[in-house]
Amino acid sequence: MKLVLATHNRGKIQEIMELLKGFNVTVLSLYDYPNIGDITENGSTFAENAVKKACFVAEQTGEVAMADDSGLEVDYLNGAPGVHSARFAGAEKNDHANNEKLLKLLSGIPPEMRTARFRCVIAVTEPAGKVSTAEGVCEGVISNEHRGSSGFGYDPLFYLPAYGKTFAELDLATKNKISHRSKAVNKIAFILSAVIQKNINNNKPAVN
Ligand code: IMP
Repeated sequence: MKLVLATHNRGKIQEIMELLKGFNVTVLSLYDYPNIGDITENGSTFAENAVKKACFVAEQTGEVAMADDSGLEVDYLNGAPGVHSARFAGAEKNDHANNEKLLKLLSGIPPEMRTARFRCVIAVTEPAGKVSTAEGVCEGVISNEHRGSSGFGYDPLFYLPAYGKTFAELDLATKNKISHRSKAVNKIAFILSAVIQKNINNNKPAVN
């Protein structure tokens, strides 16, 4: 069975592919469907955007789709950038510019006031089917300098006190044990397994 990830974000694709390794699915992404462009994300919540992306991609491809909508919530900024995380510093979705803007806004703010969390909502749907969602959260602190080179987005600034490292200093396997994304994917795993089983059963040749 095919599962289409409703994203062009290579960081998300890499992490989710790794998380879905135990599932009996061929994981594709929007790079396999060049006719589908970027999907407008105009919802006011992660859930709204995730549902919209999953439904659109399932409808366009005729395959089961999975969408991730995620972002960073900084307490000192009253939850910003939140759903606007990808475009925090402008429409071009520039990770470096987003990180620079965040550092500037938190300049001089002490560590105890730099608390933040990543939030992720995963949505899964079959074409014309019911949509299921699950949410995962990962708590951390915004560091006052870029550290590390793995991952994507705000990873170089997202510091995990329990590890003494930022997300960008962790390897993929470790990030995937504790991240908001892995928690959401793990929560939805049961539903995904049921969808996969249903599709396998539907495609079995009839025995007479
Ligand atoms: P979306 O495509 O609207 O879900 O954008 C998500 C944005 O949130 C990304 O472009 C990143 O800026 C940020 N983000 C989400 N998850 C992560 C993560 O695991 N690490 C770093 N940044 C993330």
